[in-house]
Amino acid sequence: MDLSYILNELGEERENYFNAVAPPIIQTSNFAFKTVKDFRDALADEFDADLYSRGNNPTLNILRKKLAALDGAEDALVFSSGIGAITVPILALLKQGDHVVSVENPYSWTIKLFKNFLPKFGITTTFIDGRDIQNFKDAIRSETRLIYLESPNTFSYELQDLKAVANLAKSKGIITMIDNSYCTPLYQRPIELGIDLSAQTATKYIGGHSDVVAGVVTGKRELIKQIFDHEYMTIGPSLSPHSAWLLIRGLRTLPLRLQRSFESAQMVGDWLSNHPLVAKVIWPFREDFEQYELGQRQMQGCGGLFSFVLKDPAFDKIETFCNSLKHILMAVSWGGHESLIIPSIAALPESEYDAVNPNRYQLIRMYAGLEDPEYLIKDLEQGLAEIS
Ligand SMILES: *Cc1c(COP(=O)(O)O)cnc(C)c1O
Repeated sequence: MDLSYILNELGEERENYFNAVAPPIIQTSNFAFKTVKDFRDALADEFDADLYSRGNNPTLNILRKKLAALDGAEDALVFSSGIGAITVPILALLKQGDHVVSVENPYSWTIKLFKNFLPKFGITTTFIDGRDIQNFKDAIRSETRLIYLESPNTFSYELQDLKAVANLAKSKGIITMIDNSYCTPLYQRPIELGIDLSAQTATKYIGGHSDVVAGVVTGKRELIKQIFDHEYMTIGPSLSPHSAWLLIRGLRTLPLRLQRSFESAQMVGDWLSNHPLVAKVIWPFREDFEQYELGQRQMQGCGGLFSFVLKDPAFDKIETFCNSLKHILMAVSWGGHESLIIPSIAALPESEYDAVNPNRYQLIRMYAGLEDPEYLIKDLEQGLAEIS
């Protein structure tokens, strides 16, 4: 389907709301019926009815249609957070005794879901290095019900071969799910590669302005309905109509913002990689990236998140550099207008940092936002000068 049509028209029945160009925020909790029969029909199938805004709401439904179409999926559900769009579908799909194969080091709260939350229901997870398809084959058991992917990872950027994993899972009757937040469906299309459920945080690129927290999952209508009818309605993670409206607004400019972020990440990353104090830059579309070819094969573009390592990754050097930045903000999240930085050591007490064997704690993650890349480079330059 045509991207321009999806972002500008699909789902928007303007004749229903005074031909307004921007859709209304239908800020209501409930919907009224004229007859008992209509009421009964809606109660019997809430998935297809406007009855109560914990389930359906017309503003959310415009958003759902657009997000499903962007992914080439039959349907979508939107949630009040990205982690909700991961946790609630997983709770809907799994039962006691089931087993999950997950990539190692997915998003931090996804790790907590697998390590702390699901074991309460007797569900276990094996974490594997997803770069090698053999590791999936080795980890699958007769009780394996779900393979969970995140490609690229949003700190260290490991990829999985989505088509190969989808084919393997299909041959064993296992459901596949991906966190596609890094690329969005504009730069990676998991559903078309055979993945069953594609989840994203909408807080990042889709909202795009750092002013809303939301999530989305897309897939076959049957699977989405299963999630809706049970866990979505009982857990209650629905999004407010106002937040949905902000996401529709964000979608209008998604391709422009994504392209800017992609190009700036390339420019800023190139500049950093040539700086004498920088050891390496990790970003899937750099030619020196370990899985460069796979990235070129399954991604149509690259996000604006990348990480880099200082030649001298001493704890205080990383701290001084980050503290010296004047325009690039130190904050979690990404995908907004503003460029951001996070040193991995922000999640670590100094006493636990081992400079000789620093692993992923030496990584400094940067998100290139919508500012002029030269403006960002100047800020990095003066920050690096503080530690030279
Ligand atoms: C932020 C993020 C999430 C969680 O999304 P929220 O909207 O913050 O709940 C999930 N996965 C990735 C990769 C993220 O960056």
